[in-house]
Amino acid sequence: MIVVLSGILWLLRFTVGACVFSFFNVVICRLPVGESVVRGRSHCPSCGRILTAKELIPCVSYLWQRGKCRGCGGKISGRYFWMEFTGGLLFILCGVSFGFGRSGLLSFQGLLAFAYLGILTMVAWIDWDTRTIYDRFHIGIALLGAASLWLFPGHLLADRFIGAVVIALPMLALALLIEGAFGGGDIKLMAVSGFLLGWRAVVVAMFLGLITGGVYCIWMLVKKRLARGDSFAFGPFLAIGLGAAFFWGDKLADWYLAFLWQ
Ligand SMILES: [Zn+2]
Repeated sequence: MIVVLSGILWLLRFTVGACVFSFFNVVICRLPVGESVVRGRSHCPSCGRILTAKELIPCVSYLWQRGKCRGCGGKISGRYFWMEFTGGLLFILCGVSFGFGRSGLLSFQGLLAFAYLGILTMVAWIDWDTRTIYDRFHIGIALLGAASLWLFPGHLLADRFIGAVVIALPMLALALLIEGAFGGGDIKLMAVSGFLLGWRAVVVAMFLGLITGGVYCIWMLVKKRLARGDSFAFGPFLAIGLGAAFFWGDKLADWYLAFLWQ
């Protein structure tokens, strides 16, 4: 009986995460085209048919319909499924890392982590699609930074202020020297995230972003889908680095510093 109840609880956690990310997916689709994210029911992107309750069950509906609209048979992007699936997994990751709290769903620290990962995911997809990072996301991260003064007091104010400039200032300098080196949205993302993460983790995040972005770039050059001198959205790679650094940035930095001093 306890096993069943515990199973239901984990499923509930996964579902909550999946539902939240399902909404974030709506933001990713609608924000760049100027549609309201709160008004207007969920509809099929090709025929516009309003989705029924049965079609709104995260992950399950997509698999059940084999990725096709029941009205027009139009193919539904796999992004819907993967966004929901990722949301469920990240919700559980946040709970396992920062506690599920008294509600059984998420502690305040876990909630902050989940909100940050959600914003990063929206930033990554919208930047990938449109090469734009909206200021409202920077503001959201800045608010999380303010909340983290209470929720993550381990990072002192000085640590956070250094974090806000240690990556963003060099990026700004490079962007002024070399046209198109970094977009303003990327720079602001690293500034507000640096305040949230502290200086060690934001440096780690930049390294991870450069490594993943570099691997992608080499892959695209080899595949001849990107020519020398072409630019690509760097935001998604920064987002991957920042997300990982929120959880493991300080540990990675400590490990690396210990490695240097030995
Ligand atoms: Zn349809």
